[in-house]
Amino acid sequence: MSLKVKIIAHTPNPEEVVAQAAKLCYSPVGVDGIMEKLTPEKIESFVNNLASIGHESPFEHVSFTFAVEGISRACSHQIVRHRIASYSQQSQRYVKEDGNFEFITPNIINEMGPLAWQQYERDMKTIHDMYLRWQKDIKEFVEETDYPTNGMNAEKVANENARYVLPNACETKIVFTMNVRSLYNFFSKRCCNRAQEEIRELADEMLKQVKEIAPILFKNAGAPCVRGKCPEGKMTCGRPKI
Ligand SMILES: Cc1cc2nc3c(=O)[nH]c(=O)nc-3n(C[C@H](O)[C@H](O)[C@H](O)COP(=O)(O)OP(=O)(O)OC[C@H]3O[C@@H](n4cnc5c(N)ncnc54)[C@H](O)[C@@H]3O)c2cc1C
Repeated sequence: MSLKVKIIAHTPNPEEVVAQAAKLCYSPVGVDGIMEKLTPEKIESFVNNLASIGHESPFEHVSFTFAVEGISRACSHQIVRHRIASYSQQSQRYVKEDGNFEFITPNIINEMGPLAWQQYERDMKTIHDMYLRWQKDIKEFVEETDYPTNGMNAEKVANENARYVLPNACETKIVFTMNVRSLYNFFSKRCCNRAQEEIRELADEMLKQVKEIAPILFKNAGAPCVRGKCPEGKMTCGRPKI
């Protein structure tokens, strides 16, 4: 399954909203005056000024909601480490990994050639068989005993316990919302070549899509080397993104 990223919602007029908030901070205007004379040039100037002086809170007024599928649980775990966000992820308790067991194959395994990805697919099948066996055994155990289930049906108890043998490669789907300030941080860390390839591809695609909606806001977003020197020291990839 391949990566799919969609912006399903965002704050209307994102760049104007940030500029309005900034204008309210720095000009003697009331709520009625903050939209006046907000030309595209003025909006760009407000956004640039905020970024240059590090006044980042006005960027929090604008949020983007992404729907993502075709990523691994390894990748989703990295995404949810970003705490300044809201998440909804497909549950392995409610959704049984049955006939349509989807998994992500790292690019490197495809690059290693057919023998490697055939082995990988066999390994995934072995793990999936283990999962199905545990799912069946646990379900039968619950049905045949008085194991306490706290009102849950046997199927769900089986799903939530059998999943312990599932791999990080399991495909998952997630919806998340981040404000622009948090997105700057996300892009800074995850568009960098030091981030793992899968989340980097996701971050690059997210950045491409938000730039189509708000090119001024995201002009300088991305890995730190987009804005100047790489901060990674000895860990630098040595290939700053231009
Ligand atoms: C290349 C790479 C390697 C990584 N390796 C590891 C690893 O080996 N082990 C590991 O555990 N994680 C690792 N991480 C994850 C990383 O440590 C962060 O958890 C993740 O990138 C989320 O970043 P964040 O905390 O800045 O984001 P958010 O959680 O969205 O936080 C945004 C910002 O809010 C502020 N903030 C949020 N919460 C607090 C708080 N409690 N106290 C003070 N300030 C706060 C900070 O300024 C923070 O930068 C790695 C990340 C990358 C990109």
